[in-house]
Amino acid sequence: VESLNGVGKTRQAQLKRLGISSVRDLIKYYPRAYENRGDVKLLSEASFEESNSFLLVVATSVRTANIRKGLSISKFRAFDESGTVEVVFFNSPFVKDVFTVGAQFRFYGKISLSKNLLQLNSPKYEPYIEGKPLLDLVPVYPLTEGISSKYLEKLISSVIDEAATSVVDFLPEELRLENSLSALSYAIRNVHFPTDKDALSRSIRRLAFDEMFIFGMAIALNSQYKKRSDGIKFAPCDIKPFLDLLPYELTNSQKQAVNDIYKDTVLTSAKAPKAMSRIIVGDVGSGKTVLSAIAMYICVKSGYQATLMAPTEILARQHYQELSEIYSRLGISCELLCGNTSAKEKSRIYQDASQGKINVIVGTHALISDNLSFQNLGLVVTDEQHRFGVAQRAKLKDKSKSAHLLVMSATPIPRTLALTMYGDLDVSRLTEMPKGRQRVDTFVVDEGYRARINDFIKKQVMLGGQCYVVCPSIERNEDGAECYDALTITQNAKKKTLNLKNAVEYAESLKAALPECNIACLHGKMKAKEKDLIMSSFASGEIDVIVSTTVIEVGVNVPNATLMIVENAERFGLSSLHQLRGRVGRGQKKSYCILVSDKNIGNAYERLEVMRTVYDGFEIAERDLLIRGPGDFFSGNSDNNLRQSGGFRFDFASMCDDSQLMELAFSSAKKVIADDRYLEKDDNYLLKKRLDEVIYVNQSNIS
Ligand code: ADP
Ligand code: MG
Repeated sequence: VESLNGVGKTRQAQLKRLGISSVRDLIKYYPRAYENRGDVKLLSEASFEESNSFLLVVATSVRTANIRKGLSISKFRAFDESGTVEVVFFNSPFVKDVFTVGAQFRFYGKISLSKNLLQLNSPKYEPYIEGKPLLDLVPVYPLTEGISSKYLEKLISSVIDEAATSVVDFLPEELRLENSLSALSYAIRNVHFPTDKDALSRSIRRLAFDEMFIFGMAIALNSQYKKRSDGIKFAPCDIKPFLDLLPYELTNSQKQAVNDIYKDTVLTSAKAPKAMSRIIVGDVGSGKTVLSAIAMYICVKSGYQATLMAPTEILARQHYQELSEIYSRLGISCELLCGNTSAKEKSRIYQDASQGKINVIVGTHALISDNLSFQNLGLVVTDEQHRFGVAQRAKLKDKSKSAHLLVMSATPIPRTLALTMYGDLDVSRLTEMPKGRQRVDTFVVDEGYRARINDFIKKQVMLGGQCYVVCPSIERNEDGAECYDALTITQNAKKKTLNLKNAVEYAESLKAALPECNIACLHGKMKAKEKDLIMSSFASGEIDVIVSTTVIEVGVNVPNATLMIVENAERFGLSSLHQLRGRVGRGQKKSYCILVSDKNIGNAYERLEVMRTVYDGFEIAERDLLIRGPGDFFSGNSDNNLRQSGGFRFDFASMCDDSQLMELAFSSAKKVIADDRYLEKDDNYLLKKRLDEVIYVNQSNIS
């Protein structure tokens, strides 16, 4: 970027913070949203609710008043054929040189009424010159301090023409045409500066296809090249002593999964058993932990060590407590290793593990540390909320080439997708819940029920229960104004509702409404330590109500929680809602889920009705795929960080609402590989190069 006009040292450093150091990075820095400025309104027809575009002529010269130290107000009047408006800027005296009487501008902002006068506060503006069209959809970029969206727009537009044409399309032409995909250069240009909405959705479709296709290629390659390493054959083992310690009987699904594991690790045909690579997929609460415990038991009984990796410290600790309680009675030693385990304790664990003195180690990513080695690792279990944590899983597994691998996932994946997404793993599905598990009664209500909802929270707390309130995270542009997200644009749907419940504000209002309850707020901007602390106070019952964005940990077990309230439920995918609902109903007490939504948005009614009537995670996943497309399976939930896990980026795939596109992408990937196993054909040369890049990128992400 330093070669670009006007990019000096300071700009370079700022851009670097956004991960932009080359022109290539720059054109890959995609907008997060678009402002629909093309829809120009007359002042007389403007809505007060949302931002609008206006084409106005400056009527008076700018007058600036210094109100007090540090505050000046600049005002002028402007008009269109329907009326006059007062345009106001704060601390921007320079605007007097911008707005000369008679000049015409396109403004974008929100109108208000002040003393019977229309006012336009701090609008965005672009000079309007006859014959020089302005963009209808103006890109909104994710920003950092010192860099405005307008600056990025200018910078990118200065290079886009040259850069976009020099981009080589790695998709073989035939494949591209077969799937009706636009050219890559077209997609890149139009995702930044869409000529219209159709161009934008065509571009997003192409880029979403690419992400899923590349991912599909990686899986297809992986599963064909992957010769399973030779595994360890565990000795036949009676698991009855373990089962006798359980206060319950395994469900049939659980028994089947135990059989699968036993077959993979014990009953393998004599000479060269292949290492197990198995994933257990089952709803939250379906009882996966005990299966990992049994697998590790079999492993330890054969004289090998086992390890279990959880995605967060809280989960690791919870697993550790559960496991060590039962293992201690079986004479199996179990240790916990996390990021904040003391240095002294760590080095003891490293030493003991390498000498085989520890049977089972439970932990977080800290387990990946090079300092940790095992004397004879036989089984690696990962409890995964991140579906694509492939790299880390691999790294842990590399601590022993012959160790078996068991993955646990709470994300039900439609059958049609499971095969492709978990291409390298055998799948065991837990399709039934433990006996006596009560169903979480689910209600769909609108804002009119607010008072009753609050009463209900209070009642649950008085009865000794606890409550989760989940709000969607809100995106605002740099002025705090609402804006379109790309998804909304492509769906051509209504503007995002303005009154999305913001977790922080909501927590405040709830505190005021329910002074007798202990209410805490948890959101994505908090530090991990803070979040952990709040989560554990909730788990221990000190906090009655936790108001959060979807950062609440998947899998954390708070059996005392009896009520899950999801605000703006229409903004969540069914699978996410199902996951959220799974947070309650884990104990003895009757539990409830309330989905609050203005049901008239999009297909909200249809989707929420599914939640009210269907309780099986797999069926919900199938319906979700049908109704909403595969986007949800790539985004995990509305938190962005999942999109990048494993090194693959799913910026566009996660917004995809075309349920066929994913299947197209995956089947195309399979076809390419079936036709050209080693990607040696000329047509696939660029594709191979592109894949080499991605796989390289992924490897660098492991460390
Ligand atoms: P998840 O699949 O979400 O990881 P867990 O393994 O945490 O579920 O199990 C949830 C709860 O159900 C735990 O308290 C566990 O002891 C209990 N549980 C597991 N299997 C059974 C069963 N077959 N019958 C009754 N309770 C069970
Ligand atoms: Mg679990």
